[in-house]
Amino acid sequence: MLSIAGAVGGRLFCVHRGVTWWRPRRRLLPLQLPLFSSLAAGGGGAPPHLPVVIAGAGPVGLVLSFLLTKFGIKCAVLDKNVEFTRHPRAHFINNRTMEIFRKLDGLAGDIENSQPPVDLWRKFVYCTSLSGSILGSVDHMKQEDFDKVISPISVAHFSQHKLVDLLIKKLEGIGFQTYLPDEIGSSTQDLVLENKIFMGHECSSIQLTDDGILIGASFNNAGRMQERKIHCGLLLGADGARSTVRELAGINMKGQRDLQKLVSVHFLSRDLGKYLSRERPGMLFFIFNPDAVGVLVAHDLEHGEFVLQIPFYPPQQMFEDFSTKVCEEIIVKLVGWEPTDVQVLDVKPWAMHAEVAEKYIGCNNRIILVGDAAHRFPPAGGFGMNTGVQDAHNLAWKLCLLQNDVASTSIIQTYESERQPVAIFNTELSVDNFKAAMSIPATLGLDPTVANSVHQVINSSLGSVIPRNLQKKLLEGLFSIGRAQLSDYILNEKNPLGSSRLARLKSILDEGKSLQLQFPAEDLGFRYELGALDAEDCAETTCEAEKQKHSKRSREYVPSAKVGSRLPHMLMRALSTSNEGVFSTLDLVSGDKPEFALIIAPLKESYDLARAMLKIADELKLSAKICVIWPQGSVDAKVRGSRSELAPWTNYVDVEEIPRASVNSWWETCQINRKSIILVRPDEHVAWRTESDRVKDADSEIRRVFSNVLCLTRPIR
Ligand SMILES: Cc1cc2nc3c(=O)[nH]c(=O)nc-3n(C[C@H](O)[C@H](O)[C@H](O)COP(=O)(O)OP(=O)(O)OC[C@H]3O[C@@H](n4cnc5c(N)ncnc54)[C@H](O)[C@@H]3O)c2cc1C
Repeated sequence: MLSIAGAVGGRLFCVHRGVTWWRPRRRLLPLQLPLFSSLAAGGGGAPPHLPVVIAGAGPVGLVLSFLLTKFGIKCAVLDKNVEFTRHPRAHFINNRTMEIFRKLDGLAGDIENSQPPVDLWRKFVYCTSLSGSILGSVDHMKQEDFDKVISPISVAHFSQHKLVDLLIKKLEGIGFQTYLPDEIGSSTQDLVLENKIFMGHECSSIQLTDDGILIGASFNNAGRMQERKIHCGLLLGADGARSTVRELAGINMKGQRDLQKLVSVHFLSRDLGKYLSRERPGMLFFIFNPDAVGVLVAHDLEHGEFVLQIPFYPPQQMFEDFSTKVCEEIIVKLVGWEPTDVQVLDVKPWAMHAEVAEKYIGCNNRIILVGDAAHRFPPAGGFGMNTGVQDAHNLAWKLCLLQNDVASTSIIQTYESERQPVAIFNTELSVDNFKAAMSIPATLGLDPTVANSVHQVINSSLGSVIPRNLQKKLLEGLFSIGRAQLSDYILNEKNPLGSSRLARLKSILDEGKSLQLQFPAEDLGFRYELGALDAEDCAETTCEAEKQKHSKRSREYVPSAKVGSRLPHMLMRALSTSNEGVFSTLDLVSGDKPEFALIIAPLKESYDLARAMLKIADELKLSAKICVIWPQGSVDAKVRGSRSELAPWTNYVDVEEIPRASVNSWWETCQINRKSIILVRPDEHVAWRTESDRVKDADSEIRRVFSNVLCLTRPIR
């Protein structure tokens, strides 16, 4: 039973209602919410306290716990299941997520080393069976992906359950331990919470208190359900698409529900893996034949690990109809021959939704939603987990600045104002991608929207009139008539209908109108417009033009250093050091602590601003550095100029740009001139940019900018 107490009109709301504002060098402000109150275990029978508790040990909760711990925020993770799910879901990791993973103690490198070779997954294959005719295929990798032109790292294909395993190892590396209920007993009083993952603990109730939130975590203690009380400053709901935390906070979802229902069959077959590796390697196989249709996700061809997605039409079809034997039979129909070693591991029903939470933050800033708890997309295009990991990345540094009393509580709201529009955009994109995927069976004469309509008609008009088993027979009869369109008799070049359908299919694939794998324009090109930024003037028309450009969904990513954008990638080399190695501009920002970086060219006015920035960052106790980008081939003697210009500060780096042949310089890549200066946030997004000769008073300008970025309602003096 879920419960929430004290959420409305409770003391917390009354006591802390008011304006939150900033005065430098004061610790807890009277009107600032004490989100991160004392860490000490509550004495005198009070439940133990922790600044942050994360509900959900999925990929998003684990990434978040890693980032928070690295940034010095003490946290624990609760997961309702006693073990991590082995049923694979996500497998495609996009560029931006891989960039984030590069800074998670080398996680991206581990993924690159463990994932299957790219030639085994770069294609989507459309066929009548895995051994029958290939109707078409699309290669989703381009040479520029391997050349790492737009990002220092490529996309990856790596199953979610294996990613979770790697994340657990990374967390163990920074001191985390995983516990089951019977390993810790039922007493919570002396339990050290921080750096722990409590499996088998379901967040099932919350109660707001004066200085935090009291969580009830239910667990099974030797067959008896018990509840452990944990007090924390913030509860982060990373508990997935059916989030209990979201429900407890009373936050609704908005969007479309039940776009499609499917049954997901997780199975192993080394025979099939070997066959496909040899004959027709690919990541996704869209299979259409008169006996069955389905989408096979080849999670790992080398080890023969697959997930088959089969359309599912309840209530006429029951989940129980998909026994292991039935699933094996469907697999054989789709493979076209009988692999001897098919081992069905797990069968699960699931529904596809396209929804975003109306709010990301609830209960007076005490609850924050991340990942699938905040948004659930059709998996077409692989945006779900990727968006969730990027939510965590956006949130972690903000919470750190809040804990360090550098930013105001309002910075939490910028998590919502930045990430919710991205989720809404990605929802629409995923729905469009889903429609693009559905256009293929429709072209072949098997329109899924017709199937859904038929199903709806049966549900609404016949549902109460004829018995369920007759409805089922009717539905399956109609579906098998539909699937007859996929017979070799129709679907061949000699049949006029078949040949026109095949020609149409070819043009959809050739024109890139089928489901795509990569979306660099959206993956790397998304931009925050409202948030922890000093937004630049963006005339309505410019914004509109940009949105329209975006809506055309061109694959191309155009590097931009506009405020809110992810910093463009270019290779750099450190000057004045013995280190010859090259690195990405993204590496100018530390991954180990929330650090701001000011990128400048070696110009007098830019150095003036840089000095002001270092001074004010120091006053604010913000971690910051200057990155001076020199043209390629700059000589050492000149470069040493930074030392005298920036003295007494030493937190700067001189780097030499290594532009690609097609561009002349970093500044040209960003479509700006050398007078420009760019303030980069800890999450590698641009917080502010200007041209140094436009700034009259460096000191007050930097104070104004930090005041906006840190969401302080009064300028810093
Ligand atoms: C078929 C399919 C393919 C997909 N492919 C991709 C892809 O290629 N790329 C991509 O980016 N995304 C993909 N996704 C989406 C992706 O799987 C999800 O977006 C991702 O799992 C979200 O991660 P999460 O950590 O937010 O939630 P989850 O992975 O759902 O984890 C939530 C965790 O919370 C726990 N939990 C739930 N309730 C409670 C509670 N009350 N208390 C404590 N713990 C609780 C659960 O046990 C679970 O461990 C796919 C999804 C599907 C269905």
